[in-house]
Amino acid sequence: MWHSDTPFEHGVATRRARLRVIGLSAGYGPLPVLRDVSFEVKPGLTVILGPNGAGKTTLLRALTGLIPRGGEVLLDGEELPEKTHEIVQRGIALVPEGRQLFGQMTVDDNLELGGWLLTKPQRAERIEGVLNDFPKLRERRAQLAGTMSGGEQQMVAVARAMVSSPRLLMLDEPSLGLAPRMVDELLAIARRIADAGTTVLMVEQNVKKALAVADRGYVLERGSLVASGPAALLARSSVIHETYLGNAPRST
Ligand code: ATP
Repeated sequence: MWHSDTPFEHGVATRRARLRVIGLSAGYGPLPVLRDVSFEVKPGLTVILGPNGAGKTTLLRALTGLIPRGGEVLLDGEELPEKTHEIVQRGIALVPEGRQLFGQMTVDDNLELGGWLLTKPQRAERIEGVLNDFPKLRERRAQLAGTMSGGEQQMVAVARAMVSSPRLLMLDEPSLGLAPRMVDELLAIARRIADAGTTVLMVEQNVKKALAVADRGYVLERGSLVASGPAALLARSSVIHETYLGNAPRST
C-alpha cells in the first residue's frame, strides 16, 4: 500500500482556498496562448482537461508566476501577487509536469526543498506529517529519488509540495506516463488531499479517470475554455464524449 486509507492528518485548519480568474491572458513572447480565460476554483478538486497544446501547462505557469500574465487573479478575494515566491507565501504549491525532482538527492532531501520557506523545526515537523500521509516514502526516505519508479517519483513530488502546507495545490498531469494502477493511486491521493482541506486544481489528459475523482471540470481548447460544469455532468456531456472518448454520450 502506498498510503493509509485514513484522511490526511495535516488538513488545513484555516478557511479553504478559492481562486477566481478573470480574463486571464498569457503566452510566450509575442505568441499568445491563453486568451480571456475566466474560471473559478472552489474548495474541492477541480480538473482542467484539454488536448495537447491547449494551454493547460501555460495556465498553471501563469497562475504561479513562472510566466507573465494579464487579467485578474484573486485568491480568497485578494489580488494574487505575480512573483513566484510571494505566490508560494500565499499558500499555493505547484507539482510541475515531469515532477522535476532532484534525482541525485534522497527522498528526504527532496522533501526538505518543499519547506524552504519554513524554519528548520517547522520543516522537520511538516516532513514528519507528510511521511505519515505517505508511509511508503518513510521506508524509502534514504533512497535516491532518481532510482524510484515513475509513480514513486510522482508521489515524492506531491509529498514535497505538501511539505509547505499549501492551501491550494496545483498538479500538472500527475498521471503522465504511469501504469494504470499508479494512475488510480495518484488520482486517489489528489482526492484525499482535497477532502482533507487543501483546494486542488489539477490538469489531466486522463479524462475519464480525472472526471471520476473531481468535483468540477473545465475543458480548455486552443487557449479558451469551451465547457465547464460538475464533473459528473461533464462526464456525460457530448463535448467530452465526442472529443475525448470517441463515442456518443450514453442516454440514461
Ligand atoms: P500538453 O498536454 O501537451 O502538455 P498543454 O495543454 O499543457 O499541452 P502547453 O504546454 O501550455 O499546452 O502549450 C500551449 C502552447 O504553448 C503550445 O502551442 C506550445 O507549443 C506553446 N509553448 C509551450 N511552452 C512554450 C515555450 N516555453 N515557448 C514557446 N511556446 C511554448
